[in-house]
Amino acid sequence: LTQLFRPLDMLGWVYRTVRQGLIDMAAMFELIDTQAEVEDAPGAPALVVRRPSVAFEDVVFGYEPERTILHGLSFEVPAGAHVAIVGPSGAGKSTIARLLFRFYDPWSGRILIDGQDIAQVTQASLRAAIGIVPQDSVLFNDTIGYNIAYGRDGATHEDIVRAAKDAAIMPLVERLPDRFETEVGERGLKLSGGEKQRVAIARTLVKNPPILLLDEATSALDSRTEQDILATLHRVSENRTSLSIAHRLSTIADADEILVMEHGRLAERGSHAALLRADGLYAEMWRRQQAESEVSEAAE
Ligand code: ADP
Ligand code: MG
Repeated sequence: LTQLFRPLDMLGWVYRTVRQGLIDMAAMFELIDTQAEVEDAPGAPALVVRRPSVAFEDVVFGYEPERTILHGLSFEVPAGAHVAIVGPSGAGKSTIARLLFRFYDPWSGRILIDGQDIAQVTQASLRAAIGIVPQDSVLFNDTIGYNIAYGRDGATHEDIVRAAKDAAIMPLVERLPDRFETEVGERGLKLSGGEKQRVAIARTLVKNPPILLLDEATSALDSRTEQDILATLHRVSENRTSLSIAHRLSTIADADEILVMEHGRLAERGSHAALLRADGLYAEMWRRQQAESEVSEAAE
C-alpha cells in the first residue's frame, strides 16, 4: 500500500515545490518586474560584510538602450546609517533598489557594499546580506510559522518566536486557533495588510540581514497602521544600515540623510531641516503633503 501512495506523495511534493516557487517569484517580481539578467562572474567570491556600508559611484543605467533612467548617480550610506530616498513617481527610486539587489547591472559606474563591487561577488551572498520589505508583501499558502521561517534555512522555533515578538505579531499569533501552525493566505486565515507587512518584517528579522531595503513598505496601509509598522521598523533597523524609499515624507523625516530624486538625478540631499531651509523640491513636496493630510484629517 505504501508503494501505491509514494507516487502521490511525490506529486504532492512537486506541486508544493512548484507552487512555492511561483509564489516566491511573484513576491520577487513586486520588486523587480522582470527576470534577473545577470550572472555570477567566473570564480566570484562571496560578499563579506563587516561594516555594511552602501555606495553608488556614478551609476548610469536604463532598462532599454535608448532611454537612460539613472544619469550618473552617486551617494553613500555609511554603515549603520538610515538614508531615505524620496521623489516623484517615476524618478528612479525603485530602480535603485533593483540595482542594489543586482537584478540588473549598471551600464557604467559601480555599486559597492563594504567596499566590494556587487557585480564581482556571488548573487546568493549579496542577496543574503539584504532584507527587503516591499510595498505589498506576499504570503505563502502555508502556516504563519512557515511564512516567518522562510527567511532562513534552518530557522528554529526560538528564532521564529523572537522574530514574531520583535515584529509585534505575538498578540495576533496568540489569538489564532493553532498559533504558529495556523494556515494563512488564500486557503487559510486572511490577514490584513498591516498584519501581512508584520509577517514580512518577521521573515526579514529571521533572515537577520545587515542591510534593510524598504520600498514604500508602509504606503499601502492606512495611517494608523502605518504609524504602528513604522515604529516596528524603526526598532528593527537600529544597528543596521537602512535604505528607505518613501512616498509619505512624514515617515522618513528623521533619516540621517534624505536623497531627493528627480528624473534619475539627485535634485537635493540633506537632513529634513536643511531641506526645508533650502526651500526647493523637498520643501514643496512637504508643504503639499501637509496640506493634503490636513484636508484628510478634517474629513475624518
Ligand atoms: P519610482 O520607483 O521612482 O516610481 P522606478 O524606478 O520604478 O520609479 O522607474 C523609473 C523609470 O523607469 C520609470 O519611467 C519607469 O517607467 C521606468 N521603468 C521601470 N521599470 C522598467 C522596466 N522593467 N522596463 C522599462 N522601463 C522601466
Ligand atoms: Mg517605486
